[in-house]
Amino acid sequence: MADDNERSFSAPRGTNDLLPPESWRWQATTRRAMDSFALAGYAPVETPLFEHTEVFERGVGEGSEVVGKQMYTFEDRGGRSLTLRPEGTAPVVRALLEHGLDRGPLPVKLAYASAMFRQERPQKGRFRQFFQVGIEAIGSDGPIVDAEVIEVGWRFLRDAGVEPRLLLNSIGHLDGSCRLGYLDRLRKWLEENAETLDEEDRDRFATNPLRTFDSKEPATVETMRSAPVITEHVCDSCRKHFEAVRASLDDVSVPYDIDPTLVRGLDYYTRTAFEYVADGLGAQNAVGGGGRYDGLSESLGGPPLPGIGFALGLDRILLARPASEGDDAPVQAFVVALGAEAARAAFRIVTDLRSIGIGADMDHSGRGMKGQMKGADRSGARYAVIIGDDELSAGEATIRDMTSGEQRPVPFAEIARSVGR
Ligand code: AMP
Repeated sequence: MADDNERSFSAPRGTNDLLPPESWRWQATTRRAMDSFALAGYAPVETPLFEHTEVFERGVGEGSEVVGKQMYTFEDRGGRSLTLRPEGTAPVVRALLEHGLDRGPLPVKLAYASAMFRQERPQKGRFRQFFQVGIEAIGSDGPIVDAEVIEVGWRFLRDAGVEPRLLLNSIGHLDGSCRLGYLDRLRKWLEENAETLDEEDRDRFATNPLRTFDSKEPATVETMRSAPVITEHVCDSCRKHFEAVRASLDDVSVPYDIDPTLVRGLDYYTRTAFEYVADGLGAQNAVGGGGRYDGLSESLGGPPLPGIGFALGLDRILLARPASEGDDAPVQAFVVALGAEAARAAFRIVTDLRSIGIGADMDHSGRGMKGQMKGADRSGARYAVIIGDDELSAGEATIRDMTSGEQRPVPFAEIARSVGR
């Protein structure tokens, strides 16, 4: 508590310290995600943790919940308004435009694994600092690109042990004959049915009527069941685009459910919108989502540059996925050394093992055999390499298989071969 000198500090509300062994799982999952995205040609990108506030105001849109209510915005010493990034797409598009990546072959395909910041009410699976892995394909409006992006996210989640259900919708493009026409119709319908909505939702629909579909209030949820849905009102070209996206998903056997009420929270989405949901997460069951953002580049002062991407919540993936092989500490051998001479030999041995790529650690506490064996156990190592006085004079170590408990003497020169994977 920062305001109480008697007590120690704790991390700010809604943030997490990532500690071992959980941090191993976190690192392995991030790596797995980036490797899986790389297989489809998505190159890593890293943008600053904070941006000029306008990037989000203009990119994501001031009507959205994220920009309107959740941003960590501050003035720096030079009087500039900066914001900790609440999402990854607007910064990636800003960087792409700034560095002219769109002058090369399109689409530009980028992937990120980054911390995001939103001042939300913390609960299970909802934090103020959280991690997202995501991809963006920028510069093509081809429906196969939509299917590729959706499939890449779906496959990673499935391989990671999360059984995702894919929800899919088309929310049309920003044009009078398409989404804008529908919004007028929806607004009128909401006005006519305002009495049956929850009070809070009644005040909100004038600015962003679509968001009424996201309400969790029972009265509103019930009313919205009979609201006109966008899917039935999109223009011909959006309808054809959506059909083509679905055909390509069918071609690669990605199952999906059409959800005509899926509208997503950020203002920049156009056409394809999707979400991956998982069981066992309670109210916060969305593990990720994304969609097309064909107007985003122009909102940021760039040329027309259609794009699509997704962001997956790493914190929720870790809550939803079972522990699996490869998540553990990579230490393969833990050297237990009894006495100062043995400790020097142990240091030479772990250094030799590390230099040929075998994870190795040793005791630094000078405890007795029992205490050091506890350390070996905690390290997660498969083998304990034990060196006492007898072993030292014989030039060998006792290697113990930590799973089976079997022990055997091995000459120093052969330790690497005995503990190698
Ligand atoms: P969004 O950018 O809001 O579409 O979020 C994409 C994904 O990020 C969600 O499906 C969640 O898995 C995750 N996410 C969003 N907000 C939070 C949060 N406050 N805490 C943890 N995860 C979040």
